[in-house]
Amino acid sequence: RQAEEARTRLLPATTTDGHTVEIAANVNRADQVERALQAGAEGVGLMRTEFLFLERDTVPDEEAQYQALRAMVEALGGRPLVVRTLDIGGDKQVPHLQLPVEDNPFLGVRGARLALRRDDLLMPQLRALYRAARHGPLQVMFPMISTVEELHALRQRMAQVREELDAPEVAVGIMIEVPSAALLADRLAAHVDFFSIGTNDLTQYALAVDRQHPELAGMADSLHPAVLRLVERTVAGARRHGRWVGVCGGLAGEPLGAALLVGLGVDELSMSVGDLGPIKALLRRHSLAELQALAQRALDVDSADEVRALGAALRGEDA
Ligand code: PEP
Ligand code: MG
Repeated sequence: RQAEEARTRLLPATTTDGHTVEIAANVNRADQVERALQAGAEGVGLMRTEFLFLERDTVPDEEAQYQALRAMVEALGGRPLVVRTLDIGGDKQVPHLQLPVEDNPFLGVRGARLALRRDDLLMPQLRALYRAARHGPLQVMFPMISTVEELHALRQRMAQVREELDAPEVAVGIMIEVPSAALLADRLAAHVDFFSIGTNDLTQYALAVDRQHPELAGMADSLHPAVLRLVERTVAGARRHGRWVGVCGGLAGEPLGAALLVGLGVDELSMSVGDLGPIKALLRRHSLAELQALAQRALDVDSADEVRALGAALRGEDA
């Protein structure tokens, strides 16, 4: 198995019937890019910018953010980079921002909601993003979108910054990690270039289970058919407008998860560096037709356990 991974690491994730899936890594720092590329990443599908805020005790200014983003772009040498704007709130607290304490932070002012209330955080970040995009193929992605209005408001801020900087267009995508966004995917897709599904949050919001709850964490199972149906719906909405769909949540790095996501029509998987080799090798061992048949069956069962049982054939070989 390890020898197979070493051999296929730098080959594309092409199924036995010739369908290629893009494989990217979740990487936050330029000095980790080289390792990701060596492990087989074809780009970075998720750079979580909150790490720029967490690794220091003050807010990084536009210049500091620009330097960090530019270093990422340069380390990738022309390969794609998806940068997610600040996703603070919920499980991601930044003490030095001194945000109000909320009773239900996961249902509160986080991600895009915070960005739209804090121009002092959003605008310097957008300026840094447009400046860094001059150096390579950088794409911007907004987290926690739950309504079409939020997307319009963010695009408006982007247009304003772009005009101020006289910068070229950059591709814009959104995370699909709230059920309302998955259900409105066909409406949202009209206004973006791509989607990336955040299965960690999508699972917690679909099943109403806090992703960090000590007692319920086991229930937050991304293989649940309810989650898979939201993925299916997201892909269908994106297709209506010819947009690509990635997945950057944890499910993309799990063998059965990746198999099902590809079977549901996802175009790109972005995962932790350690998962790249096994997932690539797995996809190269199966046909798209086989994964599609598996995914269709998984949409029509009652539980995550039943989805797992369906995947047993795959698992026997791939565990
Ligand atoms: C997700 O929710 O699946 C995701 C990728 O974002 P994060 O884990 O950073 O919330
Ligand atoms: Mg998330």
